[in-house]
Amino acid sequence: MNRFLMLLLLGLLWFQSPLAKKQIALTFDDAPRPDTSLSGKERTDKMLAALKGVGVDQVMYFVSTKHVNEKTKRRLDEYQKAGHVIGNHSDQHTWLNKTDLKAYQEDLMKADKILRPYDNFKPYFRFPYLDEGRDEEKSQGMIDFLKKQGYQNGYVTVDNYDWYLDSLYQQAVKANLAIDMEKLKALYVDVLFEAISFSDGIAMQYLGRSPKHVLLLHDNDLAAYFIDDLVLHLEANGWEIISPLDAFKDPIAQQEPKTLFKGQGRVAALARDAGAKRKDLVHVAEDEVKLKQLFDQYQVTSEKPTAMPAWFIEEMNSQIGTWKTSNAKYKSEKEPFTHYMLEWSWGIGKDNVTGRLFAMHDGKATGDFWHFKQYWDANKKQARLLQMGHGGMVGDGFIQPLKMMNGTFQLETIQTFASPTVAAALERHMNVMTDEGLVTTSYRKDVKGEWEEQRSYLWKKATVLESEE
Ligand SMILES: [Zn+2]
Repeated sequence: MNRFLMLLLLGLLWFQSPLAKKQIALTFDDAPRPDTSLSGKERTDKMLAALKGVGVDQVMYFVSTKHVNEKTKRRLDEYQKAGHVIGNHSDQHTWLNKTDLKAYQEDLMKADKILRPYDNFKPYFRFPYLDEGRDEEKSQGMIDFLKKQGYQNGYVTVDNYDWYLDSLYQQAVKANLAIDMEKLKALYVDVLFEAISFSDGIAMQYLGRSPKHVLLLHDNDLAAYFIDDLVLHLEANGWEIISPLDAFKDPIAQQEPKTLFKGQGRVAALARDAGAKRKDLVHVAEDEVKLKQLFDQYQVTSEKPTAMPAWFIEEMNSQIGTWKTSNAKYKSEKEPFTHYMLEWSWGIGKDNVTGRLFAMHDGKATGDFWHFKQYWDANKKQARLLQMGHGGMVGDGFIQPLKMMNGTFQLETIQTFASPTVAAALERHMNVMTDEGLVTTSYRKDVKGEWEEQRSYLWKKATVLESEE
């Protein structure tokens, strides 16, 4: 056969019609990772169930044997029981470029010794940090060493920072933030799908075909929660999930890159050999700043609504009932009332109170000056007091505890009052419980902007509405 024809045939062999499915295998590094927000066992159970649920028969767990102990051993058994294979990810998980070559190889063999006894162990080595060495000596030293030990390079074709997304998630859990798992799922799936598409684009451009891909993932909580969603998304977009053992049969497995630029995975390295620029081979999914921005843009986290504080619950409890105060000090022709009355009752749900202020005149209840609503605003994390009165007057503001006095808090209320005819003005109330009863004092800002005392009332609880005294 002439050479031209042979090349043509080889070309045809690899020709893929647009209908042919692209293929990708799933691999998880750093297994069996210790407890995080999920315990190690929970994570393993969840992940294995998720993989099974979407019909993924085989993935590879690259084990860092420093994580293997009496407790975590069982998880390796679980992996292989489920049909998955186990690869070598070193013992101590060090950078090759920062480690003596000999020591690095000894560390690899230490892991080998621990992993060999597992039935589903396969001699594939995944370089920690995808660091295959930054100089010829170490790079070639490892190529020779792996060959001598009967190992294959467990390379990836799709690099990404799934571990960084997981660390953002773990931080949010620790900070006790509310986490929207649907949004986090969308972020995880979108970022990984983008990274996969990006790498496949590079392959199409520089290798002229879509190879059997190997996706780098980690044994982390996000994988446990969302791996099934990622698989379904891939399948819906024309991808097929294959076994890593199948993926490592792709011709690129035998194509050792010449470049030392191997930290982005094999496709990027081969593209670099083919003349691609480094900067064109790194995706957004490998940029911590951009991922953090996406994490924020997807609005994955929010502050948890805070529970009502104890002082406020106590305040509402003590308010319930009817209060009465003398208006003797302020009684006038315009304001002929001898007493004011204040009634507080529970609003629906018993987590807010409703109040009403009226006057007593000639022994009769009269005037219906103010209606109050006092409630907790979880977003503002504030106790709020809203009141509506005559002439469309509305006062709205917050209540806060100041210092402890006589076993209860002195409370300060700051409200803005406005009406259709009166410009907005601030008003302040100070409430303090004394042996005599509740003393309320109102203030308004004077011309210098200082709080100026207006009126002060002493309120007493009245179980029964008494007639005018
Ligand atoms: Zn690792």
